[in-house]
Amino acid sequence: MVRAETFSGPIPERGTAIVVGASLAGLALSISLARSGLAVNVFERAAEERNGGTGLRLWAGMGETIRRRDGSGFSAPTIASIASSGVPGPEGWATVRRRLADAAATEPGISIHYESEVVEIGQDAETAWIKDASGKVHGADILLGADGHRSMVRRSVDPSHPDATYAGYTIWTGKAPYEAAPGWAEGHNHMDMITLPHGDGAMIVGETRTNGEPRRYFWQWYDPTSDDYLHESGALVENVSQHSLVNEGIAASKYEDIHRRAGHWPAPWDQIVRHSVHRRQVIATPIAEYVPRRLTRGRIAIIGDAAHVPSPMTGAGFDTGLGDAETLGELTDHDVVGRRGVEVLKTYEKQRLRTAQRMVRSGQGFGRSLLNHPNH
Ligand SMILES: Cc1cc2nc3c(=O)[nH]c(=O)nc-3n(C[C@H](O)[C@H](O)[C@H](O)COP(=O)(O)OP(=O)(O)OC[C@H]3O[C@@H](n4cnc5c(N)ncnc54)[C@H](O)[C@@H]3O)c2cc1C
Repeated sequence: MVRAETFSGPIPERGTAIVVGASLAGLALSISLARSGLAVNVFERAAEERNGGTGLRLWAGMGETIRRRDGSGFSAPTIASIASSGVPGPEGWATVRRRLADAAATEPGISIHYESEVVEIGQDAETAWIKDASGKVHGADILLGADGHRSMVRRSVDPSHPDATYAGYTIWTGKAPYEAAPGWAEGHNHMDMITLPHGDGAMIVGETRTNGEPRRYFWQWYDPTSDDYLHESGALVENVSQHSLVNEGIAASKYEDIHRRAGHWPAPWDQIVRHSVHRRQVIATPIAEYVPRRLTRGRIAIIGDAAHVPSPMTGAGFDTGLGDAETLGELTDHDVVGRRGVEVLKTYEKQRLRTAQRMVRSGQGFGRSLLNHPNH
C-alpha cells in the first residue's frame, strides 16, 4: 500500500491516521490528533447534516488542555470547551455535534469524507487500511474506530468479544416546548429524575439551555417493560440491539400504550411525554452495554462508544470518549510511523482500559435496580 496516495498534500513527519466515524468521539479525536501534527482522514457513513439525538449533560472545562504543538505557545481551547456552550447542564446532541464538526472543518490536517461507509478494515506490518463502499482502499499509520456501539472496528480489535449486549431496558426520548410545563424547570434546577409507579421504570426530565434557541424540555424514560415489542419490531435480535425506532417507526399501538401509562405518572411528567406522543416524535433505543477487555490490536484501536458502552444513566459516555480523544492526542505528540504507532496504541490501552471498564460497570448497578423492582 502506498500511503502518499491516500492523503492529499504532503505527508507530515508525525504520520497519518484514519478515523472511522465522525460523530462526537470521532470528531473530538480528529481535532486532537490533528493538533498533534498528524494528517487525519475521517470516514463517516452518514451525511454531514444530522439532527436527532437527545440531551447530553456536559461540563465545561473538563479534561486536560490540549495545546497546539506548533511552537507558537498558543494554547487552544480544550476539546470539551469546544463541545460545550460553557454553561454546565444539558445541551442538545445535534448542537454539540455541530460545534465539533465546525471546529474539525477549520482544523488544518483533517479531511472528512461524509457518506463514505467503511466496509472492511485490515492491517499489515507497516500500515492499517480501510476499504470504503466504492471499493477504494485508504491506508494510514494508525486506524481508530469511533464507529459507535455497533462498531465494526471492534470486531478486529477483539473478535472473541465483538458485541455490546442488551442491558434489559429501553430508553424512550422526546422533546417538548417549555410551555408544556411552564415554570417547572426553575423549581427543579433544570433537571430531575423520578422512579415511576407500577414498575414502569424511571424517568429523567431536563431543560436544554442552548443560547439563541427556544427553551425546551427533553425527557428520557428508562423502560424495563418493552422487550417483547422490541423483538417484534426487529430493534432487538436475541440480546443484541440492532437500531433505534424513530417517530413513525414506532407502532401506533405502542404510542397508545405509552399514552395510557403516562396517565399514571405524576405531573408534569405526564404532559411532557404526551406532548411528544401526540406528535409521534419519540426515539426508542434498546440500551446496550459493553465492558471492554482490550482497546487495541496492532495499529488499530477503538474509542468512544466503540470502546465502552455504558448505561446513559452514568451520563459519562461522551465525557469518557473525550478523555480517550485527549489521551490519544497527548500520546501522538511523537510520531506514529512504523513500530511507534503500535507502541502508542498499547500505551493508550494501558492508560484508558481500567477507566472504561469502571465507567461501564458503574451503570450496571442502575440497570439491575430497574429490573429488580418488585412490580416488574
Ligand atoms: C439516551 C442517551 C442519553 C445519553 N446521555 C448522555 C449524557 O448525558 N452524557 C454523556 O456523556 N453521554 C450520554 N450518552 C452517551 C453518548 O451519547 C455517547 O457516549 C456518545 O454519543 C458516543 O459517541 P460516539 O461518537 O462514540 O458514537 P456514535 O455517536 O454512535 O457515532 C458513531 C458514528 O460512526 C458512524 N459509523 C458507524 N459505522 C460506520 C462505518 N462502517 N463507516 C463509517 N461510519 C460509521 C456512525 O454513522 C456514527 O456517526 C447518552 C446516550 C443515550 C443513548
